[in-house]
Amino acid sequence: MKCRHCRAELTLPLIDLGSAPPSNAYLTKLTLRRPEKWFPLKVLVCESCWLVQAESYSRAAELFNEEYAYFSSFSEQWLKHAQHYVDTVVARFGLTIDSQVIEVASNDGYLLQFVKQRGIPCLGIEPTASTSSAARIKGIETIEEFFGVELAGRLAGQGFKADLMVANNVLAHTPDINDFSAGFILLLKPWGVVTFEFPHLMKLIEQNQFDTIYHEHFSYFSFTAIMQIFSRNGLSVLDVEEINTHGGSLRVFAQRMDTGKHAVSENVSNLLDKERVAGMNNAYYYKGFQENADKVKNDFVAFLIKAKQEGKTVAGYGAAAKGNTLLNYAGIRPDLLPFVVDRNPAKQGKYLPGSRIPIFDESRLRDAQPDYVVILPWNLKEEVMRQLDYINAWGGKFVTAVPVLKCGYN
Ligand SMILES: [Zn+2]
Repeated sequence: MKCRHCRAELTLPLIDLGSAPPSNAYLTKLTLRRPEKWFPLKVLVCESCWLVQAESYSRAAELFNEEYAYFSSFSEQWLKHAQHYVDTVVARFGLTIDSQVIEVASNDGYLLQFVKQRGIPCLGIEPTASTSSAARIKGIETIEEFFGVELAGRLAGQGFKADLMVANNVLAHTPDINDFSAGFILLLKPWGVVTFEFPHLMKLIEQNQFDTIYHEHFSYFSFTAIMQIFSRNGLSVLDVEEINTHGGSLRVFAQRMDTGKHAVSENVSNLLDKERVAGMNNAYYYKGFQENADKVKNDFVAFLIKAKQEGKTVAGYGAAAKGNTLLNYAGIRPDLLPFVVDRNPAKQGKYLPGSRIPIFDESRLRDAQPDYVVILPWNLKEEVMRQLDYINAWGGKFVTAVPVLKCGYN
């Protein structure tokens, strides 16, 4: 296989997670009686541009035929993050009611609602029908298409020009990273700025976050790799911030290479140095990851078996994609984890792909009073622990598996 960015041949493996069904392919009572399609889940490193990427396999398009159930607005923490972001960029770039904001992968309008509240014109681009219609209900104009050079050119032809573009947690989902990146310069005003947020590969590797690897992610980015990808597609980076979302993300600010005039922050060279010192430009850096991930997996399985042997009951919280990677890699089934609860009504009454663990609403937790609650989306741990503090009443304890198994806290 060749690199999605630079076309170099890929030979260095990062991790092989065996195979798994698509992480958003939740099952219903009816589909539970049918076989599932499992796809290989292996990640490789490009030793030329250091883009880390999923191995391609046949029939990848089948992944995205499933009903998409992720709505950003179901997380309070994520909404606060979006609101804070809007406050910050409006002030920093002096956005007014005469500005234009365009968000790519605008989901259900979780972020643009705060732009709209300020009276700033905004446009969402979101290919998923269920989330884009939720955004329209909030009054946010949303184009239901995938972003790339073709759409960007068409919108520019219709007169759209952005002061600010936003693309949060979408880069990884993009199969053609070059076409996607090249779209922004077509829609930005000469001084316009685009910001991207994506999980930082350095955190993924150093914190054993192998469960953030799933089929819908085509790429995993270091700052070093993204700088190269952007610069070959007409974007220059003016600033970068390390932020806490999704276990440690980067927020990258970029502008048009031809006309951008914002000064470049020293954060840019500092983070490049930090990655170089960590060894991210060296194959050695990537070589111990499988072993570290296997330890997390083994410790988690050992915990579940021990709990079962001791007669303790366990439930899961959060029917999230990262939970599915962990559960399927670890081979967990309902005998060790009988159910998970989730706040999203679209997932309740369904079953996790692969593990086939049933998903209930939160009231099931109060009824069953499990001894342990495994928080699968560990990135939302603080929020979930606050929300479920009532498990203390029956002596329930919280468990997280990543970066290392931590059990019995409350
Ligand atoms: Zn490459």
